[in-house]
Amino acid sequence: MNEKGEDQNNSSVCADGGNSECSAGARRPNESDEEFARRERLQSRMCRIKHKIVVLSGKGGVGKSTVAVNIAAALRLAGLRVGLLDIDLHGPSIPTMLGMEDARPQAAADGFAPIDKDGLKVMSIGFLLADKDDAVIWRGPRKMGAIQQFLSDVAWGDLDYLVVDTPPGTGDEQLSLCQLVEGLEGAVIVTTPQRVASADARKSINFCRALNIPVLGVVENMSGFVCPKCGELSELFCSGGGDETSRKMKVPFLGKIPVDPQVAQACDSGRPFISEFARTPTADSMTAIIQQLGVQYG
Ligand code: ADP
Repeated sequence: MNEKGEDQNNSSVCADGGNSECSAGARRPNESDEEFARRERLQSRMCRIKHKIVVLSGKGGVGKSTVAVNIAAALRLAGLRVGLLDIDLHGPSIPTMLGMEDARPQAAADGFAPIDKDGLKVMSIGFLLADKDDAVIWRGPRKMGAIQQFLSDVAWGDLDYLVVDTPPGTGDEQLSLCQLVEGLEGAVIVTTPQRVASADARKSINFCRALNIPVLGVVENMSGFVCPKCGELSELFCSGGGDETSRKMKVPFLGKIPVDPQVAQACDSGRPFISEFARTPTADSMTAIIQQLGVQYG
């Protein structure tokens, strides 16, 4: 569903339903042979992925990567074919969150093979750095080139969902992704309850509007605190910033996730929270959020 409540579930499926032969259409004015071939290659990869979701946040540290990992893991646990692409070129955290810091992509017949994590297909700039502490110092065009390669040179194969984790803000990476991928199903915006975070979430929503990307909804993360001893939920900061942002911006509110020490523990131990701690109220909150995305099974 998009923010107007319209069914968008087929928006990212090409007209022939995900046929690998589909093309990029006509050559654009001033497009060179090389550029056209590159665009066609990317388009034929993306045509094989039914739904593409991007996870955005206005600020860093609000739990965007955590939400991206858990959406992808939950969809995989539901039996879907899922890819997770990390385009946070300066601070990739997906390899750590999935315990894959030493993984290196191998060449496949038709590009680079994504790294498999319990059936989840994962790709991140973090897999390509010689040392995980290396800094990536790139300007816009180089970033766009890297993201284009992640989309077109990684052998994603046929997927039901591709979940894309992004850096905070509305910069080159988000813009490149939105321009390169036609038919993005929509964006999940992650924020924390505080007003200062909500202001940045509104910018992410306006970014989506400017680029005609449907906003699937807002997630308020770190909303209240779950006591590790008694399991009781108490207010930590003020609450309701995400809900209020959704109402003001007229986009769906997907739900709240509390601060839960087990979430941080799962991230640090390289296992998705939703698979490690499936029978907990926090996992139930995440599941309720994911169900609201209008997930298509099969
Ligand atoms: P971002 O992608 O927005 O920068 P991360 O997903 O990397 O944020 O999360 C930042 C840190 O906060 C990580 O250490 C993560 O484990 C922790 N974290 C995120 N959400 C929660 C939560 N609901 N409860 C406890 N810790 C959380």
